[in-house]
Amino acid sequence: MEQIYTIPVNMAFEESIEASKEGVHICPFCRMYDSLEKEETELILGASMMEPDTRIKTNESGFCPDHLMKLFTMGKRLPLALMLESHLDHIVNEMKCGIFPAKSGASAAKSLREISDGCYICDRIEHNFNLRVEAAALLWQNDPAFREKTAAQHHFCLDHFVRFLAAAQERMSKKEFAEFYKTVGAAEAEYIASLRDDVSWFCKKFDYRYTDEPWNGAKDAPERSAAFLKGDTVPEK
Ligand SMILES: [Zn+2]
Ligand SMILES: [Zn+2]
Repeated sequence: MEQIYTIPVNMAFEESIEASKEGVHICPFCRMYDSLEKEETELILGASMMEPDTRIKTNESGFCPDHLMKLFTMGKRLPLALMLESHLDHIVNEMKCGIFPAKSGASAAKSLREISDGCYICDRIEHNFNLRVEAAALLWQNDPAFREKTAAQHHFCLDHFVRFLAAAQERMSKKEFAEFYKTVGAAEAEYIASLRDDVSWFCKKFDYRYTDEPWNGAKDAPERSAAFLKGDTVPEK
């Protein structure tokens, strides 16, 4: 595995450990996803914008609602408008409505569905993110220091934990995967159980018998549960 994949994985795992010491608990894979997303959105409105190959792909895939809105917040309206102009051209062309040779409605509907479901940025992130999850599984196999960094994580969000497990299962022998699941899984299960207890205490606090009891840190338990289930939001630096 090349260092271009292992370095960012190590960095994200180390950053999450450091942030945890300050009381900010973020899944290390969410950090990786966030930094890939930043790189891709900056690239698309910067260096990649005028590249013909990129333009062909953005024309074909377009952007999901989330990434389109992110591009709007970046203050680069002209590059964005140029890209949209060419994407809209592509859509008109795919419709071929009333133009000879006309496309059938069914065939146009299929093309439009593909454009509407696609996202150039999601595709790029997904490709690189996958390689990083695979790199994390490989590091866990080969690097004792990385095992320690994994054990020192506060938690993984559910989606990324599932992906980490799948990548580990894919490359490990049954015996090694059993060891991986025993250690990484046990820590994660412990975190989820503590989250559940906090949510439970949060609910109890609405009972008049418990109103005078302390919150015991459970005031934001629903928010922390939602973050665990949907992925952490990485705070701005
Ligand atoms: Zn995550
Ligand atoms: Zn997207």
